[in-house]
Amino acid sequence: MLGSNIVADGHAHGFSVRVVTHIHQDHIVDLRKSIREASFIAATPLTLDLLEVAGYRVPPSKRLTLPYSVSVSIDGDVLTLRRANHVPGAAETVVELSNGYRIGYTGDFKLPGTDILYELDVLVIDATYGAEEWVRPWQDEIDILLADVVQEGLMHGPVYIYGYYGKIEEIMLLLRRYGVDAPFLVNQRIGRSVAVLERHGYRVGEVVVDGTREALEVRRSGWYIGFRHYSSWRRRRLLPPSNGLRPVHVLLTGWEFREPLRRISPREWIVSFSDHADFRQLVSYVEEARPRMLIVDGYRGGRAAAYFASYVSKRLGIPAVVQPSTERWTK
Ligand SMILES: [Zn+2]
Repeated sequence: MLGSNIVADGHAHGFSVRVVTHIHQDHIVDLRKSIREASFIAATPLTLDLLEVAGYRVPPSKRLTLPYSVSVSIDGDVLTLRRANHVPGAAETVVELSNGYRIGYTGDFKLPGTDILYELDVLVIDATYGAEEWVRPWQDEIDILLADVVQEGLMHGPVYIYGYYGKIEEIMLLLRRYGVDAPFLVNQRIGRSVAVLERHGYRVGEVVVDGTREALEVRRSGWYIGFRHYSSWRRRRLLPPSNGLRPVHVLLTGWEFREPLRRISPREWIVSFSDHADFRQLVSYVEEARPRMLIVDGYRGGRAAAYFASYVSKRLGIPAVVQPSTERWTK
């Protein structure tokens, strides 16, 4: 809750605006209830359209489309969304209450590419990786390492990439940035997201949707990148060869801290790729933002949230608490 009118990424009775920072499941909890009860659903234009793809119909009269850094006043509270590097369309939320009190909520983010929110009375931060050992020192190079694994894999056969929705779309854009131009083979759900991204000016290149004639041809060629949901990883070995070529499989996970890339078999890679700040980045965000007070999101942060809060208050001298506080950090 950010003041008495605006609530972000959760439902609360009697609030007039619900902000959706991005399309991940744990951030759209009870969204249908909010669509019914709240006056407005506020999000970036891209997020609002991606919600449709995910099956949420927001009536036009309730759509509050907020491009980054554009402010809107709601009963005296000023709401602004800022850019977050997480999944396409992701945003941070800033609310300035009528009494001048400023509250910021990062939502999910990683650095760089996320606006630091300054001059806040309270900053609410996502601290998924809030424990000191959860660092990925390679976070700056991982994009190019991943692109290399994919390019190299394509020389031997099709490449399948496994990740969560949102992350998949991000990886598609990343691969194009690094000059990977093989066609993408996707399911219908991802196909619809891609169409939305294209409508919003992103260039995703050649994408073919499973079940179409083009998909058959692409499969036959054996030169393509297939995207599949994270949960399909355990069924990867059931995929038949294409054009006599056995696929290379790449799993994206944020919970790999030993090394950036791990080859678990000649055709299977685990890549340490996350859309969340690691511990180091969390600390540097808070150090730079220097809010008067920090609230660590305990709903999504789990036990690490408590550790991060105590680290911030001890090391950075910024009062920090976990809310809601349900779990204690034990090591
Ligand atoms: Zn997320």
